Amino acid sequence: MHHAIVIIGSGLAGVTLAREIRRIDREIDVAIVTASAGEHYAKPALSNALAAGRGVEQLRLADAARLAADLRIAIHPRVTVRSLDLEARRLDTSDGAIGFDQLVLAVGARQRRPDLAGNGADQVMSINDLDDYAAMRRRLAAASRVAIVGAGLIGCEFANDLRLGGFGVELYDVAPAPLARLLPAMASQRMRRGLEDIGVGMHLGSAILGIERGTAHTLELVAEGGAGGRYDLVLSATGLQPELRLAREAGLLTGAGIRTDAALATSHPGVFALGDCAEVHGRLLPYVMPILQGARALARTLTGTTTPVDYPPVQIVVKTPACPTVIFPPARERGDWSVLHDAPDSLQLEHREAPDGRLTGVVLQGDAVRERSRLAARLAEFASCRAAA
Ligand SMILES: Cc1cc2nc3c(=O)[nH]c(=O)nc-3n(C[C@H](O)[C@H](O)[C@H](O)COP(=O)(O)OP(=O)(O)OC[C@H]3O[C@@H](n4cnc5c(N)ncnc54)[C@H](O)[C@@H]3O)c2cc1C
Repeated sequence: MHHAIVIIGSGLAGVTLAREIRRIDREIDVAIVTASAGEHYAKPALSNALAAGRGVEQLRLADAARLAADLRIAIHPRVTVRSLDLEARRLDTSDGAIGFDQLVLAVGARQRRPDLAGNGADQVMSINDLDDYAAMRRRLAAASRVAIVGAGLIGCEFANDLRLGGFGVELYDVAPAPLARLLPAMASQRMRRGLEDIGVGMHLGSAILGIERGTAHTLELVAEGGAGGRYDLVLSATGLQPELRLAREAGLLTGAGIRTDAALATSHPGVFALGDCAEVHGRLLPYVMPILQGARALARTLTGTTTPVDYPPVQIVVKTPACPTVIFPPARERGDWSVLHDAPDSLQLEHREAPDGRLTGVVLQGDAVRERSRLAARLAEFASCRAAA
């Protein structure tokens, strides 16, 4: 079997890229090879589906057959790529060899598993695709108390959603505050209060030591300093790790992700990377908007017009109704955060870069999130001034 363009992965990156290629070229032979079911779903909706009253069936937008027919591409679902032979332009898969002219790695990232002791450690779940989510919903049917390990973006969103879904929720993190890596202290304290106000229990600043199986399918979580408790379900949300195995074994350059230039080209000619697995010019951008921008540019490159991707300022919408938050993270740490507006129902922080005081980051919370379009435009303006300078 041979295809002109082979995409490994059917997540947002792989599917959006196939759609963008079809917009440009109605004939070119495109195939997606994917370890998952190849169905199309919106991953961000997994962490606010309970409150929105959406079950697994509502999250599934199209199955593999329908997607293949709509896009007029081949999809090889439930096929795992085992290795890449880049010189021979061939994949070794669980379903035989597949040849390609151009290859795109859109293999995503996996949730980091915390290194935990105890005979219950293997019961910890993490949610990174629709299959994981369906498994969680099955477990939730007989659950009332849930512990979440990791108070980052995904942990906070699930905490808020599960609480709104009527579950008792406790959030654990070794960091002293939620979203500590993305938010300045003042904003993360506000997030903490927002989640506590809806009844999420917080165990911050202490590490989880282990998880033991208790009676009747419960799990006993043991944390430093005597914290812990008994839960029906333990979720891990301790961050993402780009999927690098295939790339590394094939000799592609990797760092935190699969290294690419601005046109998403890896270190091997004709091989590209897109999405959560890619490190584009030294940056990991595991979010929807950069993936959509990247797919648009890469579709042009793959169809003959090399096109570097031009990212607008990254905008992270934290889906926590208990404390609505939008973050425009500064690309570099150089500079300081200052408070522009601080009221009980809204907060606006700005990050200005030293030494010229250019606006490079913003945090909006509460009612201030209404300002996000205006601030996105302002940040884009500052970024284009920098590019022109
Ligand atoms: C719960 C949750 C909520 C989120 N919310 C937001 C949000 O609100 N806003 C936002 O911007 N971002 C959000 N994100 C991040 C965003 O969803 C991801 O950046 C995006 O979906 C990643 O898409 P991807 O295609 O790169 O990777 P994935 O969706 O992980 O797809 C990777 C694909 O590669 C396949 N694959 C991997 N290895 C192989 C192999 N060896 N052989 C064959 N196939 C393989 C997998 O089966 C899968 O199909 C969220 C993420 C999560 C987990």
